[in-house]
Amino acid sequence: MGSVPRAIRESCIFAVAVLALSVCPALTGQTARRNPIDLYHELCSVSLDEKQVYHIRDAALDREDLHLYLSDGTIAFTKAVDGHITGAYFEGDGQVLVIPPNPGERASLGVFTGLGVLDETFHSAYIGFNDDTPREIASHLRVPEDAGDFVSAHQEAARIYGEHDALRLLLSFTSDLGKTEDRFLHVALAGRLGLFTVAYDSLAEDQIVAGQAVRDAESDEMNYNLWMAFPASQARGRRESDRVIDPWRGFYCVRTNLTRIDAKLLPPEQMLATADLDLTVQHGGQRLLVFELSRWLRVERVTMGGQALEVLQNEAIDSSTLAQRGNDLVTVILPQILHSGESLKLRFVYRGAVMKQVAPGLVFVGERGIWYPNRGMELSRFELHLRWPAEWTLAATGRRTSLKEDNGEREGTWVTDDVIPYAGFNIGQYSRGVAQSGSVQVEAYASGSFEKEIASALAPHAVKKVDEASGAKDTREELALEAQHRALAVATREADTIKAYEAWFGPYPLSGLSLTQVPGNTSQGWAGLVFLSSLAFLTPAEKKKIGMDEFRAVSTGPFMADHETAHQWWGDLVNWRSYRDQWLMEALANYSALMLLERDDPANARMLLDHYRTILAARNESKKRQADAGPVTLGLRLTSSVYPNGWVNIAYGRGTWLIHMLRMMFHDASVAAGDPDPDARFLSALRVFRERFEHRAASTADFQHVLEESLPLSLRYEGRRSLDWFFEGWVESAAMPTLKLTQVKFTRGERNTVSFVVEQHQIPPDIVTSIPVYAVMPDESLRYVARIFVDGRSTRLRLTVPARTQRLVIDPYGTVLTDSDKS
Ligand SMILES: [Zn+2]
Repeated sequence: MGSVPRAIRESCIFAVAVLALSVCPALTGQTARRNPIDLYHELCSVSLDEKQVYHIRDAALDREDLHLYLSDGTIAFTKAVDGHITGAYFEGDGQVLVIPPNPGERASLGVFTGLGVLDETFHSAYIGFNDDTPREIASHLRVPEDAGDFVSAHQEAARIYGEHDALRLLLSFTSDLGKTEDRFLHVALAGRLGLFTVAYDSLAEDQIVAGQAVRDAESDEMNYNLWMAFPASQARGRRESDRVIDPWRGFYCVRTNLTRIDAKLLPPEQMLATADLDLTVQHGGQRLLVFELSRWLRVERVTMGGQALEVLQNEAIDSSTLAQRGNDLVTVILPQILHSGESLKLRFVYRGAVMKQVAPGLVFVGERGIWYPNRGMELSRFELHLRWPAEWTLAATGRRTSLKEDNGEREGTWVTDDVIPYAGFNIGQYSRGVAQSGSVQVEAYASGSFEKEIASALAPHAVKKVDEASGAKDTREELALEAQHRALAVATREADTIKAYEAWFGPYPLSGLSLTQVPGNTSQGWAGLVFLSSLAFLTPAEKKKIGMDEFRAVSTGPFMADHETAHQWWGDLVNWRSYRDQWLMEALANYSALMLLERDDPANARMLLDHYRTILAARNESKKRQADAGPVTLGLRLTSSVYPNGWVNIAYGRGTWLIHMLRMMFHDASVAAGDPDPDARFLSALRVFRERFEHRAASTADFQHVLEESLPLSLRYEGRRSLDWFFEGWVESAAMPTLKLTQVKFTRGERNTVSFVVEQHQIPPDIVTSIPVYAVMPDESLRYVARIFVDGRSTRLRLTVPARTQRLVIDPYGTVLTDSDKS
């Protein structure tokens, strides 16, 4: 052959090595020989190989919607670990292209980059992979560069990114998932937009993801801005039920049937626990199972049938990352690859400081992450067997089946008869208040103490006195009596709330409800157990005293407890399917509470709605409108460095408005039809939604379909029995238009008719809005005329109006989310 240029020789050797690998993909065999923990540690300390440095030209890596071009530069591959080359560092001219497939993801990308398509050049990149990527680009590799300098300059970056991929790689290298089924490409790039990441992962629910880690200047914490996330092109064509798996959430691959937890609680902080998980493998092929657990809890051992299993806890997370997260990952390595349909029982023994005391007898359980190993928010049955000191009170999710006291220790068991999304407990030194709603017992537990800021604002002198006289019997009794009154007020209110909700949404799903005080501003509602913020136990006078404004006073009043009680139906009984559907449960819970407020105090209900509108129309520091954070269906992704309150503003504010718009559209149709109860049709749809999806997870589309079943004629755009116009235009978008009524012309004759134009501004071009039109009569009273559809920028219409109509007005009662209430 004569003298073969060295470059070709090198690349041939490389190609051969890679080929040998691809011919021998029997990773199963390899793992049998190889200890996964050792393999993991090797993957964590991967390094660039001086013998594998090349000049690269015109190479392309295409992973469905993700396109990466390495136009001209130098590339160094990592040393093989157990025969696998898993990464490469590139420097030179490169380009990345990802086109989001829908308007929501284009808008989301636009929030962070200002553009609707990711088409960026870059000058350096780390590329991680679990497949034949090196062979794929082998023919584009040429004369080796000055290898030593290149490798030493980029060794540290390669090690850091390699460590990020280590757990994902271990999953691949210990599994027998097919090569097409399990394939990823993770790319960290540096370019005009700074350092950002783009990834393709066949096993993820959203297979294409791009985003950027940003350090918050104030808190110095790292936040991740998720620019876009969507199923890749092949998966988009498949039915949801046919999609494969999500290795971290395990949504499809392993189901938890029963979680049995036996825990000894040592308040104010410590817990010793054993959790037995009864699992069924939905989709086999892997050896790793990843669980979430609070970072404050240390796993001592995990066993299966008495056999100790190998475990990785927090291994891949460096201490600064660790400090920002409530939960960490616990990875359990099973002795063999899992098979579909197989059952397994895992026992976790763990301990740690999962509670935090903020005032005497007032502790916070949830703040420090999840207290039992779980696979993400997932429907399961639970059995809790808890022991705690008798001077503390404990409430837990589910139905209490036993309670006894012995030697200063209490012991109780709680079971759930059906699946629930989360099991929790709260513990404190509480006073109790009880009320009855039919057969449902409502208990509220208030602590005698409040967080320091509240306590000192309420009674600065009293706090000092209590401190000095700590242990003084009369003071303690006084505080307990006061707490009892607070508890009774909450219990009485929520018993009444349950009655109202039962009439609207059907029977309360459990036999009891416990509402327990927690420190902080936020509350959470779990099956049978509510963590209720201290603020909800304050009287209106006390709120005034601590300087709360009107909105906060109302939103932390009975409205807050009513919202959490509504989660018994929306969130706990009917669960959400994915993060894209979580908004629906918050919006329905919030709207349930709002309907009660409307019943009791319509002016304050209006005030809350107007306040949400004002928040959505407000601009943030970078002059961006809060509503433009994105559609409700982006879920928790809405919170970012650009929109720090994105999730709260959109899911609660916009979400509540979306339900209000739907209810009022149904309401107006019923009024026009002369129905005796204008809310009956909408509430009956909510009952159907509950009945159909109780003990199951529902999606936004499921909700849409239920509403469509009883869709009034006046809401059928172009005559179709469909709410696509609303869900595409309003739910899947950030639309918040301004409306304008113009060119109004009356024709007075036998029948009074009027022609007019309605304009919509600040909207996506194809949005359709249903708007109520009213006639103003000579005595200035309003008479409902009709609901009209306004399609796009402007629509011309003609309507018949009552005789002696003076003027025409649109949406005088503010039932459409517009950017200004002067519509
Ligand atoms: Zn909520």
